[in-house]
Amino acid sequence: MQKTAPEYKVITMKKVAFHTLGCKVNQYETEALKERFEAGGYTVVPEEETADVYVINTCTVTNLADRKSRQFIRRAIKKNPDAIVAACGCYVQINPEEAASIPGVDLVVGTNGKQELFDKVEELMEKRSETALRMVLPYSELTEYRSDGIISAMDGRSRAFIKIQEGCDRFCSYCLIPFARGRVRSRDADEILEEVRALVGKGFREIVLTGINTALYGRDDPEDEGKGFARLLDRIDAVPGDFRVRLSSLEPTVVSPSQVADVLDHERLCHHLHLSIQSGSDPVLKAMNRGYARAEYLEIVDMIRKRDPHFGITTDIICGFPGETEKDVEDTLALIKEAAFARVHVFGYSRRDGTKAAAMPGQIPAAVKAARVKLVSDAAELAARDFIESCRGLEQIVLPERLTDDGRFYEGYSGNYLMTYIHAERFDEDPCGSFVKAKLDGPFMDGVRGIC
Ligand code: SF4
Repeated sequence: MQKTAPEYKVITMKKVAFHTLGCKVNQYETEALKERFEAGGYTVVPEEETADVYVINTCTVTNLADRKSRQFIRRAIKKNPDAIVAACGCYVQINPEEAASIPGVDLVVGTNGKQELFDKVEELMEKRSETALRMVLPYSELTEYRSDGIISAMDGRSRAFIKIQEGCDRFCSYCLIPFARGRVRSRDADEILEEVRALVGKGFREIVLTGINTALYGRDDPEDEGKGFARLLDRIDAVPGDFRVRLSSLEPTVVSPSQVADVLDHERLCHHLHLSIQSGSDPVLKAMNRGYARAEYLEIVDMIRKRDPHFGITTDIICGFPGETEKDVEDTLALIKEAAFARVHVFGYSRRDGTKAAAMPGQIPAAVKAARVKLVSDAAELAARDFIESCRGLEQIVLPERLTDDGRFYEGYSGNYLMTYIHAERFDEDPCGSFVKAKLDGPFMDGVRGIC
């Protein structure tokens, strides 16, 4: 009797593609979404590929971020008009109707609804709807910390971000983020610890703690007394394993010098802090509603430098804020010198609709703004070089992350956050993901050369 060939059932995995705009919190949340889709049987593909589902994790930090968010939503729709297109995150939270009105969008999800996004997409797979489904809570209901679960991966193999906190209550006059992210709420400490252990167990050597305003961790607890963040670091310090901890940023809007001192006492903490100053001028800081004065900021810097003169301090500066004068710019230039920053991110003020600053008098013309950005950037570059020079001969622990494109160097951050380049021939094996002791040897490419 002739045998019939066995019948194989062909199972095709559904494909999902992501695009993430904005900050490290969004990157973290995209990672959590990716893992949820993978657990649900999807294959994650690059966004250039044709997928069954596209998720655009949006940002609203500037008018430009809004525009880009819309652009990427439209691009996904164009790529595959039959796909389910879900837009989520900050732009959607602030502009739900505008996002939902883009023809071809299937789902709009605010900042507190990403955890249900996968289930909604699955429902839409069964039954498409004519109009976009909306899952956006009003600001007054952005009060609960929604867990994204425990993530187990991150792009790259050396550094992983962990989200510890949501929301901000500082209301800087140029910023809309508190309205997009809602009240301050902290992630459960046990869950953070579980995630730290999981990622360290997977081989990550650097854990970057991140949040909308990280230093507000614990402040939603009436018994916190401003100690919650330091207590969390105590517990992370006690987790076994060979790893270090970095903070994505510490807002001087929130921390006093003594609170910074509490944070610095932690053994695993890298000798680097990102302390956003935004301006070196007191009148501008006041107009920005930053809640600290230049002298208070410098007090923190001084206290850090007394502990470690090579501690890396990085910052952000906004140029051309409404009402900014030439004298204000001079104060900023002087502060850059005085604080000896390791790196400064310089931005031109970008008018954000819906903020107090957008309605302020004295908006600075674009050409003047551009000239000030150039002036401040030049000063920042000089300061960074001086800082690197001051570290010549210093021994640092470097975490190589990748080989440079020409294959000659391994690059990775030193503890004090200098991008360090070490000659590849120094290694018999790929050092990525392992700590390497290196002596810093002066400016090289966009960072420093490391010798080992
Ligand atoms: Fe925005 Fe200021 Fe809060 Fe930072 S501290 S998220 S700039 S309001």
